[in-house]
This record gives sequence, C-alpha cells and structure tokens, in this order.
Amino acid sequence: AKKKGRNGFRFYRQEMLQQITDLAILEKALHGAIHDNEFYLVYQPQVNNYGVLIGYEALLRWFNPELGFVSPARFIPVAEEIGLIYEIGDWVLENACRQLRIWQDMGLPPSFEGVAVNISPYQFAQEGFVNSVEKVMESTQIDPSLLDLEITEGMLVENIASVAEKMWRLKEHGIRFSIDDFGTGYSSLRYLQHFPINQLKIDQTFVRDLSSDPNSHVITNTIVSMAEHMNLSVLAEGVESTFEKAILENIGCTRYQGYYFSKPVKADLATLFLKDNEVF
Ligand code: C2E
Ligand code: CA
Ligand code: CA
Ligand code: CA
Repeated sequence: AKKKGRNGFRFYRQEMLQQITDLAILEKALHGAIHDNEFYLVYQPQVNNYGVLIGYEALLRWFNPELGFVSPARFIPVAEEIGLIYEIGDWVLENACRQLRIWQDMGLPPSFEGVAVNISPYQFAQEGFVNSVEKVMESTQIDPSLLDLEITEGMLVENIASVAEKMWRLKEHGIRFSIDDFGTGYSSLRYLQHFPINQLKIDQTFVRDLSSDPNSHVITNTIVSMAEHMNLSVLAEGVESTFEKAILENIGCTRYQGYYFSKPVKADLATLFLKDNEVF
C-alpha cells in the first residue's frame, strides 16, 4: 500500500508539473494570438418556435499552430487571469460589430434581431467599458439595437449602482442585454429589476436534464413564467433534440439555440443563412 501511495504521489506531482507547463505554454501562445491572427468568430443561430432565424451568438475560436484548437472554456479564464481579456474582449466586440455592419448593409430579414456578444465580467467592470463600446459603435456605424450584450448573473450582485449605471448608459443607445447561463448563479430575482435586461438565457445544464431531472423541469418552468411576468424574453440554450424542444415549447419557451438547430458556423455560412432567410 505504501508503495502504491508513493507511486500515486509521483504520478500526481508529474501531472501537476505537466499542468503548470501546459498553462505556461498556453499563456505564452495567448499573448501572440491577436497579433498573429489566430482568432476568429463563429455564429450560432438563435431561432423562434417556427425555426426562423432571429439572431446569432458570436463565439470566439482560437487556432494556434502549436496547440491546435483551444476551447474558449479553457482560454477565457486564463485570459481573465493574466489581464489579456480586455484586449481580447475589444477584439471580439469590434469584429462582431464589423460583421454585423456587413449584414446590416446587405439588408436583414424582418425577423432578425441581431448579434449577441459575450462580455466577460472583468471587461464590463473596466472603467472605460462604455466608452469602448461607444467607440466601436461609432467606427462601425451599426444600429445599436441589433447588438445584444450577454452578461452573467454574478455581475449583477456586485457594485449594483455602477453596473446599473453602465447598463443604462448603453441602453440609451438602444443596446440590449441578455443574462447568460441564467439559473446557475445567484439568481436573486430581486436584483433583476434594477437593470435594463431584455432576455434571460436558460443555461444548457437545465435543458440537458429536462427529461431526467424533475428539478430542472421545475426550474425551467419557473424561469419562463417569471420572465413572462417581468416582460422579458427567454431563450433556451443547448437544445439538442426535438424532444427537448417540444418540452420547452410546452413550458412556454419561444426562443432557442442549440445543436438541434445548428452548430456555430463561420461568417460566410452565417451570411448564406441570412440571405436565404433560413428556417432551421
Ligand atoms: P456560453 O456563452 O454559454 O456559450 C454556449 C456554449 O455552448 C458554446 O460553447 C456553444 O458552442 C455551446 N453549445 C451550443 N449549442 C450547444 C448544444 O446544443 N449542446 C452543447 N453541449 N453545447 C452547445 P463554446 O463556443 O465552446 O464557448 C464556451 C464558453 O466560452 C461560452 O459559453 C462563453 O462563456 C465563453 N466564450 C465564448 N466566446 C466568448 C467571447 O467572445 N468572449 C467571452 N468573454 N467568452 C466567450
Ligand atoms: Ca453566451
Ligand atoms: Ca450560456
Ligand atoms: Ca455556459
């Protein structure tokens, strides 16, 4: 048993060293990623009950020649840790808005409400955040009401006054806000009323467990009816089957996103979907 323990320890130590090395390599690669053009955006369709395209969520992709594809779930937290998220966040916002401007000029189908962009809490908390959004609006000349900023619940419980002030300033331009991963964070519903929120996005973990876990069903149901009462839109994320869509529709959900409709796609395909006024 003793021997096994020692080997176990050695293994653990080795794994830890490996992780530290991996992290150092990742950090180093991340520093050059913008300059070396290693980022691009993909767009995941958002649809209504009839499968009509109502929007896109912009999602960041990173391909590094040495590391291959690295998931944003892996590198965004690292970027936040080492302070690169500001530069990356600006890059995402600017590129999503440039693309939106191209689509705007092309002429948008009437059902299309615009593009959602994920905003890191660190990025939002930055002093100059509102200014940087205004700058991008200015340089790209987008219709601000076509921009949907996705923020997380956790952001709404700290510095309420300052967060609300920033949101209202952006709201005045017509920018919309969605709460991402709703139901996983603090969910203190009382807070919601302080902020100009347009939409709640039901986290995909609830959608995934809809049929197997009665709690998920109850929570989803509660979120949908609460959103109704508060006059908010509600969108279900991570919808992967007809079955899940049917349950959600039954609960009263009308907006969806997930592999069942489409995976995130590159800009050229997203452009085709828009041109064809695609029904998913
Ligand atoms: P998120 O904002 O909750 O984005 C949804 C994630 O679920 C995306 O993963 C998407 O590809 C994936 N997804 C969509 N439909 C389905 C489905 O039907 N089933 C399953 N299992 N997954 C689905 P992705 O693109 O890997 O992004 C992961 C997370 O990384 C995002 O979660 C978001 O928190 C973060 N992220 C991505 N892009 C950005 C960005 O530009 N800025 C910031 N700050 N964070 C980003
Ligand atoms: Ca999101
Ligand atoms: Ca989400
Ligand atoms: Ca998520």
